[in-house]
Amino acid sequence: MTTPTYNELLQMPQWRTKRKEILLRDGNKCRSCGTKGNLHIHHRQYHANSKTGLQVLPWKYKNDLLVALCANCHRAGHSLYQIKTFSY
Ligand SMILES: [Zn+2]
Ligand SMILES: [Zn+2]
Repeated sequence: MTTPTYNELLQMPQWRTKRKEILLRDGNKCRSCGTKGNLHIHHRQYHANSKTGLQVLPWKYKNDLLVALCANCHRAGHSLYQIKTFSY
């Protein structure tokens, strides 16, 4: 079995469930500009296991580290800020 890519992880049912939860909390709109279409869930931090170096699964984050953003704000955010990865 190969390690799934990040994009593959985002297709998994666990992520779909988490995604819905965040979208519901954020009223199905972008937290930055209020747009209602083409929403992504953005991770404000990434976490990695310090022993294995593996990224924590995308749905294993606390909800307050996740925000709904539209595709534009999401792209802009990533080009402005480097998302920090915390190892533990
Ligand atoms: Zn937006
Ligand atoms: Zn993001």
